[in-house]
Amino acid sequence: MILLSIPNIGETEEAYLRECVRTNFVSSVGPFVDRFEIGVASLHGGTKGVATSAGTTALHVGLVALGVQPGDMVICPSFTFVATANAIAHQHAVPWLMDVNSGCWTLDPDVLEAELKTKTRRNGQTLVHMESGRKVAAIVPVYTLGTPASMERISAIAAEFQLPILADAAAAIGVTYKGQTLNDLADLTSFSFNGNKTITTGGGGMLIGKNAEALALARHLSTTARTSPDYDYDRVGYNYRMTNIQAAIGCAQLERLPSFLMRKRQVRDRYNDAFRNRRGITLFPQPQDLESACWFSGLVLDPVVQPPIKDICVALKADGIEARSFWKPLHEQKPYQHCPRSDLTVTESFWRNVITLPCSTMITDAELEKTVEAVDRILV
Ligand SMILES: *Cc1c(COP(=O)(O)O)cnc(C)c1O
Repeated sequence: MILLSIPNIGETEEAYLRECVRTNFVSSVGPFVDRFEIGVASLHGGTKGVATSAGTTALHVGLVALGVQPGDMVICPSFTFVATANAIAHQHAVPWLMDVNSGCWTLDPDVLEAELKTKTRRNGQTLVHMESGRKVAAIVPVYTLGTPASMERISAIAAEFQLPILADAAAAIGVTYKGQTLNDLADLTSFSFNGNKTITTGGGGMLIGKNAEALALARHLSTTARTSPDYDYDRVGYNYRMTNIQAAIGCAQLERLPSFLMRKRQVRDRYNDAFRNRRGITLFPQPQDLESACWFSGLVLDPVVQPPIKDICVALKADGIEARSFWKPLHEQKPYQHCPRSDLTVTESFWRNVITLPCSTMITDAELEKTVEAVDRILV
């Protein structure tokens, strides 16, 4: 079976894991954790990140570190993986769902600005969502498919409304934004190293960011908010740290990141070349001026012209190829369907029509050609 996006684990990973076993450093303290935190952060213009047990826990502790309180409201796009909203809900805050732009499926700054202008008012230090009376506490743009959101606009709007930014860069490892590093784009930025991401630690996440105070607080909170070895704690903390075993795999993966990114982009290019200019098919968005990690590849299919995505997936499966639909937006999910939302015309216009195709970093040329040939045959 040619699978969608699976881990690519090799000899370096095995060697580093053996080192964990040999040295007895298997838990949440160890040389690989430090090395991975420095490695990921310095790749994005930071100095040292905070490695966590998952992308979700990185987002959660990041929100807490930025001062999000229970009952607050946190802005995020409706079109994202459910973890973005779960992290907000874990802090007992409420997601305020907004639309994305069609150009790169990321938070639309025009929508963000219009919503904040028309639906909030300032009450002293507090920005209040008028209808609910809740405090608006943060903005969480998502770097969809590994492409940064429109951060110069979003940052300007965040500054105007005095809101901190936690960027969900789960799948954007290794990219820059118009010459700027990811570290400097937002107060905090989170990555995921889940098994289907470009690099994996089995499961894991990391926070980096230009807000050094928030980053230090996130480190403290993720380590049970311990203040001394004598069982002293100053806050309600979390057991969210990454283990040395996870970080060992991460360090090995990080060494291979350049080749992984190259392969992800080659795969995207191949699908684009094969299906460009075909009736009823649109390529994944890729703005000319934005670098993307090309985490996932696939196509957008016009349902009037092309067969239903379910049928295509079944037909591909018979050929030994895994294909899937993509994110169902948050406003369509049971836990988040009643959240406040902007108009979601753009999200509604495409999300049902997205099909994702095999894009693992170890996919061979022969497997890629087999996939292209099968998709070509099944599509109109
Ligand atoms: C993968 C992903 C996450 C969550 O990461 P986990 O490590 O699975 O908790 C969060 N947000 C987005 C956009 C993702 O793609």
